[in-house]
Amino acid sequence: MPRRLQLANRIGLPVAALIFTAVGVGVLFGAQRFIADAKQVAHTNEVMASVDGVEARLRDAEAAQRGYLLTGRAEYLAGYQSSRDQAGPQLEVLAHLVKDNPLQSRRVRELAELSALRLAQMEQNLARYREGGLEAARAGIDAEVDQASHRIRASARQLLDEERRLLAERDRTSGRSADILRALAGLGIPLGIAVVGSVYWLLLREVRRRGQAERDGSQANQRLRESIGQLERHSADLGELTRYGGLLQNCLSAAEAVALTTQLLSRLLPGTGGTLYRIRASNDYAEELTHWGQHAAASAVLLTPEQCWALRRGQPHLLRADEGTLRCDHVEPSADVGAYSSACLPLAAQGTQLGLLYLSAPDPAFLARLDLVQAAVEQLSMALHNLALQERLRIQSIRDPLTGLFNRRYLEESLTRELARCERRGLPLSLMMIDLDHFKAFNDLHGHAGGDALLAAFGQLLGSLARTEDIACRYGGEEFTLILPEADAQSALDCAARVGEAVRELRVHHLGQELPTVTASIGLAVFRPGADDAARLLQRADMALYRAKREGRDRVVQAE
Ligand code: GH3
Ligand code: MG
Ligand code: MG
Repeated sequence: MPRRLQLANRIGLPVAALIFTAVGVGVLFGAQRFIADAKQVAHTNEVMASVDGVEARLRDAEAAQRGYLLTGRAEYLAGYQSSRDQAGPQLEVLAHLVKDNPLQSRRVRELAELSALRLAQMEQNLARYREGGLEAARAGIDAEVDQASHRIRASARQLLDEERRLLAERDRTSGRSADILRALAGLGIPLGIAVVGSVYWLLLREVRRRGQAERDGSQANQRLRESIGQLERHSADLGELTRYGGLLQNCLSAAEAVALTTQLLSRLLPGTGGTLYRIRASNDYAEELTHWGQHAAASAVLLTPEQCWALRRGQPHLLRADEGTLRCDHVEPSADVGAYSSACLPLAAQGTQLGLLYLSAPDPAFLARLDLVQAAVEQLSMALHNLALQERLRIQSIRDPLTGLFNRRYLEESLTRELARCERRGLPLSLMMIDLDHFKAFNDLHGHAGGDALLAAFGQLLGSLARTEDIACRYGGEEFTLILPEADAQSALDCAARVGEAVRELRVHHLGQELPTVTASIGLAVFRPGADDAARLLQRADMALYRAKREGRDRVVQAE
């Protein structure tokens, strides 16, 4: 919770409560004070009315007495007596009303004494009237009477003045308390509202801030979840790529590597069509090796490097549905640009272009994973390059470069294998040893290059005469071996005869001129299960060849 809000909660709300309590208490006291003042006013009015009442009774008594004195009528006398009798109780009421105020009590007592004096004077006058008539009564009204009347009026005025003064004073104090109350309400209520409003505003702001923070938090959470999802996918992809790399290294052929790549890419890019091309050794065409998935825009089976921007530039070339960049010529022209996205990724290793990967889909989403595909393509390129290198080395290690036939090392390997296979299956196997006749002299006559031309031509001839299961080898120099698996003596003899015949008919051109024809001597041995092994079979064929030479060359001799 922010500091300001804490302060507002700790201080603002108690202060507001205090202000409202003060206003409330003020109003309560003010109201009580008003009630008290109102009672006092009523009391003062009562006192004043009572003073007036006493004066009125005395005046009434005096007036009635005078009426009686002048007219002698009994009703005046009765009016006099009634007023005189009321004066006493009236004074008692007055005394009771002012009993809390010593000054007024004293004055009321004084008024009571004066009233009694004045009533006594009137009684005296009546007595004189009864004795001496109107004249006697008139003589009784002297200065003393005047003085008493005057003093009664003065005493009543003093009482009234004092009550008026008290009234004015109460008026003043209740005006003051009304002012205080007004000030209290006028300041306290707005202040209290301001404090409560501030706290409310701070709370509202805090609620909004928390709401925003919560929204931000949930957005951040969402982003985090997305990042984690991406990381997990990346990590899964990397795992997949690592597994792919491991498997790729153990592939024995380009076909295996391509199949593995197809599986990987169709898993990594679901909903995307793919085609893998290999550039032919002649470098003039790229031909489709395989394809998978459903292409959004199909591509030609055969394409020239000029038709593909990626092959031309040696860099990936992307076409986004929403951008519509340059399309390659190998993509079918009917495909609507804007309705598909595609990627051409060249396969290259050690500066040599090996092929092309073409991908297409209606949705450009797959382009986001191209880094991964590029990594796979690089691994595949390297693997294909290595496999080609291995293949070249393997061929070099088992082939004789001049004739294109297998070499002696391969002969020994395969003879042992083929012997074992045929022996296991109870099949025959024959072996021919072929040696060109008088080759030394041929060499001497036509030079070493002429001899080489003849050896190369003979190699090709022997290769063409051999069946697919036969193994034709250059044993060394101008000596050749032909392994004939599953061939018995008769078919071997037939084959040897065909070879001898073909050699005699072989025409070789060298440096613009036709070289003379040659002949060959052939020694033939048929494998004897149990008695022969590879070395023994070779030896027997060699001995047969030796005999063929001795017996005049250009012939076939079969070992015993
Ligand atoms: P024959 O077999 O009929 O008894 O007589 P030949 O003259 O063929 O006898 P030999 O086997 O002794 O001679 C083989 C010759 O082949 C010797 C060598 O100069 C030649 N030769 C061996 N290897 C090559 C090669 O790779 N190229 C060429 N041009 N000549 C070779
Ligand atoms: Mg020879
Ligand atoms: Mg020889």
